[in-house]
Order: sequence, then C-alpha cells, then structure tokens
Amino acid sequence: MKYFDYAATTPPYPEVVRAMGEMMQQHYGNPSSLHRYGEEADRLLRRAREVSAGVLGVQPGELIWTSGATESNNLALKGAAMRRGRLQGHIITTAIEHASVYEACRQLEQLGFEVSYLDAEPNGTISLERIQAAFREDTILFSMMHVNNETGAVQPIMEVARWIKKYHPRTIVHVDGVQGFGRLAPFPLGEGSIDLYSLSAHKLRGPRGVGLLYVKQGTELLPLLAGGGQENGYRSGTENVAAIAGMTKALRLSAEKQTTQEQHLRLLSAELRQQIRTIPGLLLTEVREVAPHIVHFTYPGMKAEVVLHSLEQQGMLVSTQSACASRRAKPSRVLRSMGMDAEAAMSGIRISLGDEHTAEDITQLVAALRQTVQALRPLERR
Ligand code: PLP
Repeated sequence: MKYFDYAATTPPYPEVVRAMGEMMQQHYGNPSSLHRYGEEADRLLRRAREVSAGVLGVQPGELIWTSGATESNNLALKGAAMRRGRLQGHIITTAIEHASVYEACRQLEQLGFEVSYLDAEPNGTISLERIQAAFREDTILFSMMHVNNETGAVQPIMEVARWIKKYHPRTIVHVDGVQGFGRLAPFPLGEGSIDLYSLSAHKLRGPRGVGLLYVKQGTELLPLLAGGGQENGYRSGTENVAAIAGMTKALRLSAEKQTTQEQHLRLLSAELRQQIRTIPGLLLTEVREVAPHIVHFTYPGMKAEVVLHSLEQQGMLVSTQSACASRRAKPSRVLRSMGMDAEAAMSGIRISLGDEHTAEDITQLVAALRQTVQALRPLERR
C-alpha cells in the first residue's frame, strides 16, 4: 500500500518512537510528585517546554500542552470567549475551518455569542476585505486557519493579524496552525500579532493525542479543565510526558527540515497537479496559494468514496474531505463555501504528500488515477 494521506496523520519519525519508548520505560514519574522520580519527570517536562518554545520563538511559559489540536482549538475559542464570565459578544471565523473550530463556534452561538462564518472566494481564500467588513465594535475574537486541510489553500494570516492588531487591538486573534507548521515558513509569533496558536503533533510525524496551544503572555483564558492546576492552571491533568517529549522531537525535526521538505513537496505536488490536469473528467481545485503537501481535485458526477475505493484497490490510500468529516457522506462544507455545487462538493478527493514520497510514487499514483477514471467512466452520472 502507498499512503497519500499525510494531512490526516503521519507516520512518526523513528527518533520520536525511540524517545517516547525511553521516556515510558525510564521516566514514568508524575511531574507533580515531590520525590526524585517526580523531579526527574518535571525536569524533562521543563526541558521539552524550553526546546519547543525555542523552536516557535516564544517564551516557555506561553505554551500549554493539550491532547491535540481539537482540544487546543476548543480551549482557545471557548476559553477566550468566556474569559470574562459573560456569554455575549461577536466572534468572526470562517466557513472553511476544521470541525474543532467550526463546531466550537456553534456551541458558543448556543450559549449566546454571535458568530459570523465568512465564506471563501472561489480561489479558496478568505479575503481581507471580507474580514474587514465583518468587524464590529463588539468583536471579541477572530479565528482562522493557516492552511485549509481539504484544499491546501493558504490563508493570508499575517496580513490579517497585523490589520486586526492595528485597528481592533482588543480582539483576540487565534490561528489554527495545524496544516501549516513544518510545511511553510514559520510565523514570527514573537511579533505579537497572533494571540493564540494551535498545533498538533501527529500531523508533524509526532505521536497522536498531544498538541500545543501557544497563549501570548497577557492573554486571558478561562480554563476548560479544572483540577490539579497543571499547565499554569490552564489545563489540569497529569501531563503525558512521553507524548510531550515525542511532540518536542517532532517539532524540532519538522522545523529543521522545513525548507528542504517544502522544496521536495513542491516539486512532487506540482508534477501531480500537472498530470491531473491532463486526465479527462478530473477537475483540479485551483487555489490562490497552495500548501506544498496537498493536491485536491473533484470528479463531478462520481461520489468521492467510489474513487477512493477504486484507488485503494490499486494500493493507493487517499482521502475524501478531511479525515474527521469523511465518514459522513455530505457535500463538503469547504467546497460549498468556495461556491461549488452540491454534486461537485460530494466528489472531492484530497491527496496529501509527505517527505518520504518519491517521484516514482507520483508516477504510480497518476497511473492508478488514470486507471480509475477509465474503469469508472461507464458509471459517471451526466
Ligand atoms: N485543525 C486542522 C486544520 C486539522 O487538519 C486537524 C486534524 O485533522 C485538527 C485541527 C485537529 O487535530 P487533532 O487531530 O490533533 O485533534
């Protein structure tokens, strides 16, 4: 089997697996315990925080470890919206966010907040003009992703964040950085335009079930998990030191390899896009600026699952929509927001690449795509 679903999850680096095994076997103390095993775990935790903060260019005290980006996004949105104990105010987000942002906003709406969900342009981007027009006096929070997990569209985050800090300095800015980190040049988080930034380890060849939320110093958040007061009181619960060590290793390796990985992925994805353009029936989803690892196309008239399973029979694993949304066969919210009709939005296929892929993998994938289209042609709905 060839795995082309790196935007869903990635195989952990061997170094990550080794580091985690060592931690679990040798340093299993609870960092809050006062004896030497606890002290050792606490030392390793502090070290991981310092190294990760160094990679991100922020202060160690500004990082909160979580169980993944779903939790980071929920903590960012609900924690920021409810920080003053009032259930009112205006939030701006987009209609193309990952479910962990979108559904958290839906819950906040039910609690009394007003939320604007901005649509994307047909080119996959949320325009600065649309964002500017949505701002109100009582906009307390703005949340947008760096890279869309379905289409790979890169959003103009820094431009937007700087505009918000200039004209609406009291609005908290949250960025879901999950698909961008390690694939694109890092953000200057230290500059201060972004208040909250979510990351997930398993998209970076780290372990599943661990993530980070960067909280800029001075940003108020209501903790969602009450308890023993770990993570500066923001996130109670005994820290998963082995997973945190694994994430730290993955963050460091991803940052170190970012430039070479981006070049490598850009070459492969450009070739794949070029080939897809030549396959009759497939429509490449063209976005204004695309991340290096994601290639998206639709096959109007054909359900995405049928294409997925046909490719699987040829040993190629790809994705329909995002991994979390793909079990519900509904038109993609992201593609609908870009203006696609319901039929096209049911037919999206995402191919996502990783550093281990080669030109030969792309050749084989393209051959399988051609074979699939040929085999499915009689079934096309016209
Ligand atoms: N945000 C984006 C853009 C994602 O792609 C994902 C994962 O699919 C998440 C958030 C959720 O991350 P996690 O699986 O760590 O909860």
